Amino acid sequence: MSTEQSYESKQDKQLLAAVNQVNLADDFQGALVTLAMEANRLLACDGASVMWLNGDELEVMANCGELVPLSGLCLPLSQVGAARTALDSNRPAVVPDTAEDMRWRCIPGEERVRTWLGVPLLVGDRAIGLVEWTAREPESFGEDEAAVAAALARYAAPILLRTQLLDDTRRRLRELLEPRPAGPVQMQDIGAALQQVTREALDSTRARHAFTFLKEEDSPRLRCVAAAGSQQQELRKITLRGDGTFSDLTAARVVDRSALGRTSAGSGAGPADSEVMAALGITNALILPLRAGKEQVGIIGVAEPSVGRSFNQGAIRLMTHLASQASLIIERAYEGKAASDGYDYETVFQSSPLGLCVLTVTGDIQACNPALAGLLSRADRSLVGRNLSDFLESGDWRRLVHALEEVVFTGQRQQVDTRIQSALGEQRYVRLTLAAAPSLAGLPRKSQAAGQRPGEKGTSLVAVLEDVTSLKILEQERVEHLRELREKHQQLQDLDQLRTRFVSNVSHELRTPLAVIKLYATLARKGRPEKQTYYLQTIEQETHRLETMVENILDLTRIDRKTLRLHPEVLAVEETIAQVLEVYQETAEKRGIELKNHVQGTLPRLWADKNDLIQMLTNLVDNALKYTPRGGQVWVAARQVSLDADKSVPQARPSLVGPMLEIAVGDTGVGIPENEQAQIFERFYRGQNNTPECTGTGLGLAIVQELIAQHGGRVTLKSQVGQGSVFVLQFPLAQAMDASLRPQVSPPGDAGASDQGSK
Ligand code: ADP
Repeated sequence: MSTEQSYESKQDKQLLAAVNQVNLADDFQGALVTLAMEANRLLACDGASVMWLNGDELEVMANCGELVPLSGLCLPLSQVGAARTALDSNRPAVVPDTAEDMRWRCIPGEERVRTWLGVPLLVGDRAIGLVEWTAREPESFGEDEAAVAAALARYAAPILLRTQLLDDTRRRLRELLEPRPAGPVQMQDIGAALQQVTREALDSTRARHAFTFLKEEDSPRLRCVAAAGSQQQELRKITLRGDGTFSDLTAARVVDRSALGRTSAGSGAGPADSEVMAALGITNALILPLRAGKEQVGIIGVAEPSVGRSFNQGAIRLMTHLASQASLIIERAYEGKAASDGYDYETVFQSSPLGLCVLTVTGDIQACNPALAGLLSRADRSLVGRNLSDFLESGDWRRLVHALEEVVFTGQRQQVDTRIQSALGEQRYVRLTLAAAPSLAGLPRKSQAAGQRPGEKGTSLVAVLEDVTSLKILEQERVEHLRELREKHQQLQDLDQLRTRFVSNVSHELRTPLAVIKLYATLARKGRPEKQTYYLQTIEQETHRLETMVENILDLTRIDRKTLRLHPEVLAVEETIAQVLEVYQETAEKRGIELKNHVQGTLPRLWADKNDLIQMLTNLVDNALKYTPRGGQVWVAARQVSLDADKSVPQARPSLVGPMLEIAVGDTGVGIPENEQAQIFERFYRGQNNTPECTGTGLGLAIVQELIAQHGGRVTLKSQVGQGSVFVLQFPLAQAMDASLRPQVSPPGDAGASDQGSK
């Protein structure tokens, strides 16, 4: 029962998310594409399409996935039996196996469909279209899927209808507010404007290519008029046949690799459009139609998203916005002055989904429509007489005043983005467009005739307020994304520099022992026979050094690539310490240095990689012996400590608090000057205290630091020139130690290291 519930609520959430996405689309075309994508995602099927009912035809408006009909196809209802069943009954219809159902009639693009599910888009009980789902395997959809599909269609239908109406009104309003130029405009004039929109498409979607194609007169061919991105020169030379394999003038379309196999032309008259585009590396594109009035005039598209594998909702929204901008540019260029007389201003004003108001030159509201009242959560009447600035966020009113002045004194339209506070206290982003309207009914025209400037007494302004909150959020996301990309780019550059420096250091360091080996190999061949043994010893010694260096470098490279995996085990640390010191006993004696083991009793068991521990101890003991003159002392101690909130490390990692095991390697050697104490852990850094006898690579401490960090610990250093140095490895004990593996209670004081050194 509870599993069922959680399943249901998960599906509800997915459904809600899908409906939200459709709701967020800015225009009709975007909403259709989004619905197709969300439908496909919801049932995880092989294809989903949205069809619109035009009289007794179904028009394929948008689709997503592999098994889908060609966009733009118009299908007479009499020929699509299964779809008609759904539309006639106002209920979902399923064809469980297309091979055995008489109602199924294959339409282009759906040749491989075995299961089909169609759900009518209903507003009330009127069908406005149909959503269809397709799958390659028979019996893919049952009653559960039909129920989810029906729910999606039920929620999406009114949204689609509203968006379509909104689109229409928006276009009409634009026409009203922006009178078109008197004569037809030449195509060259709009080239620059379309190029700008195309460039904006490329930048805002972060695609690799963007293009705008316009239809040639009296032919289906499409000529590229604007392009941006890496192939812009090549794209500009292209004219497509308009065979439907790539572009589609009637519907938005997502082209992907799977679509390329489908060719509808195949007439042998040269390569198909999809092949032409694929030759430029364009196989994954988001394409939207451009319209001038009712006429379909071209397409705008972006291809190959640089982030992720397909275009997301954000990209679709941006593109539909840009497509309507481009359509407007073309519309104005194609048409002459529009006869706007036929419009019923009052109806448009009242029914507009955009907030509209008539203002005095000082911003007082003379009239407003219900949409504006809705935006401000107030009644229409309470707004009249108030100043528009009263409703803006404090601080934004100056911009309104400035815009009002500009309109009044220049007569030019102004646009400002501002924030409003509704009566309910919520903040929304609003794009405010202001235009002079000296000829509005009831307002005297004669002020113009008398030679007055638009702003003088008697002039009114019309303001359009569009809620752009969702666009703003998108924009903020985009800026944030860009910032992240820049940061990542910088990190990569830093890494690249580090790598270059590393490679040049490595080659430099490797050359020295190689040169010595080469020289002594020559001497071994040609030099004095009695010194043969010496020559060979030197070669052996340098080879050993070279070997150590290469191993060190490989270790570091593996650490950097994170391929050095830990193989932790429960360690008796005292044994490992004794083992390492034994190896160095002979060297220490030869150098006249006393090597002491201060570890007493049993230490807590450590959960660590044994080889790593040996390497860390070896590097530290080796250094201690190297930088301690004859007669000095080198010692190792260890103890358990408890670090509470470590005050000396302001943001100590959680693992550096609690029980810790400290292993100290100390010496009475030359010491390290304070100003070098941080640098000595850098790769290839070799201190000033080095003498010609102190051979080394400058990698030992860097490796220690990386390895201890991988164990969740850290290495610290205390040193004084002339007095000696103490390096302390701190391992957290708590994290991985199983209680049963801890030592059998060791008396305090017995388990610790001697006081000297490890603090
Ligand atoms: P290497 O010893 O091969 O030069 P390391 O990375 O092990 O490289 O050490 C870096 C530098 O730190 C050394 O060149 C030396 O100047 C200094 N150093 C390391 N350990 C000691 C020590 N115990 N006493 C004095 N100086 C030390």
